[in-house]
Order: sequence, then structure tokens, then C-alpha cells
Amino acid sequence: MTGNMKKTCEDIMAEKQMQLDQLRKRMEEDMSLPLRDQATQLVFGEGNPDAALYFLGEAPGETEDRLGKPFVGRAGKLLTNSLEEIGLQRGDVYISNMVRFRPPENRQPKPAEIAAFEPYVSEEIAIIEPKLLITLGRFAMKKFLPTEKITKAHGTMQTVTWHGQTMTVYPMFHPSAALRTPQVRKAFEEDFKKIPALLATLSVPPSL
Ligand code: URA
Repeated sequence: MTGNMKKTCEDIMAEKQMQLDQLRKRMEEDMSLPLRDQATQLVFGEGNPDAALYFLGEAPGETEDRLGKPFVGRAGKLLTNSLEEIGLQRGDVYISNMVRFRPPENRQPKPAEIAAFEPYVSEEIAIIEPKLLITLGRFAMKKFLPTEKITKAHGTMQTVTWHGQTMTVYPMFHPSAALRTPQVRKAFEEDFKKIPALLATLSVPPSL
């Protein structure tokens, strides 16, 4: 692209998609990544490569492992329905996880496993450059807000410096926790409803 040619939205989307495809390929080829042997396949992030909203979960479960897509089981249904309630489709946002292979029996990921995937997660976020990064559950929150407690921090937008950049992070409870506990479900729904107004304060164009 020459200096006097402006990049269109389509150019930016195509460029970011290409970078994401390359990142995915590198992850698929990285034999040092933990949990690979027990999992069916890598569950990479999915959605709009130029999304204003990036959702970061924990790790794939059984359905995600089978289908190779993030948040497509019960927790994913709650996430998808909640998005629709605020007028968004999954394809408008980007949805991803800290860990990209399913931990056996859906156990919690271990610190070393999270650490192994972390550089890839960081790269993915750097490609997408979301306006608002929504962490789902405490594992994802701890990446940006290591000293916070989810019970206190959920539903509060926070500015963090991350890799020398200012980022806006919005911690939320994990949808699986919302499915287990009615009080958490209520908080999850209330926090979700605040997202459009938060995005507006970050001056996102109406098309997202
Ligand atoms: N829980 C997660 O954290 N991620 C998924 O993809 C599914 C369930």
C-alpha cells in the first residue's frame, strides 16, 4: 500500500485475519504447548478480527473440544444469548480463551499451562486491538489485574498498562459460574447490560 492510499476497513480486517491465521498455524505447530495430547484439537479464538469487544475465557470444555470453537457449549449459549440481548451477534465481537486445549475432565488450568499459552494470547490481543477487553472468570482477570478479587472487581471498568499500552479491561464472572449460582447469574446479567454504555464512553463508532 503506498503512502497516499488510505487503508479501508476491509483492508484492515483482511490484514488482521491474515495475522490471526498465521498465529493459529504457529500454535498448531508448537509441540511444546501443554494439554495437546489429551485434547481433540486446538480451540483458537473466533469472531471479528477488528472487533471493539474481545471476550477472554478460561479453557475449552467438552463441546468446544469436539467442535473446535470457543464458547459453544452451555456457557457459550449464555454468552451468545447475552450478546443478542444487547443487540450483538457473535460475529460482531471476538471470543477467545486463555488456554487453547481442553484440560482433562474440565479441570482448572494449572499456572504453568496458562503461562505456556500466554504469549499467544497477548499476540492475539495485540492484533485485534479491542476497545474493551472483557475477562470472563478469575483466570482471565488475573492476567491483567493480578491482585483483584472477582467478587469485588466484576462490573467495574479498569484501565491497565499492559505491554506499554493503555488497555481498558472489564472483568465479569464466568458464564459457567452464572449457570451454577443464581446470585452470580444476576450479577452477570447486570454487568452485561452495562456493556453498550461502556462502549459508548470509549467512543466506538456505531458499526462496532
Ligand atoms: N468455558 C471457557 O472458559 N471457555 C470455553 O470456550 C467454554 C467454556
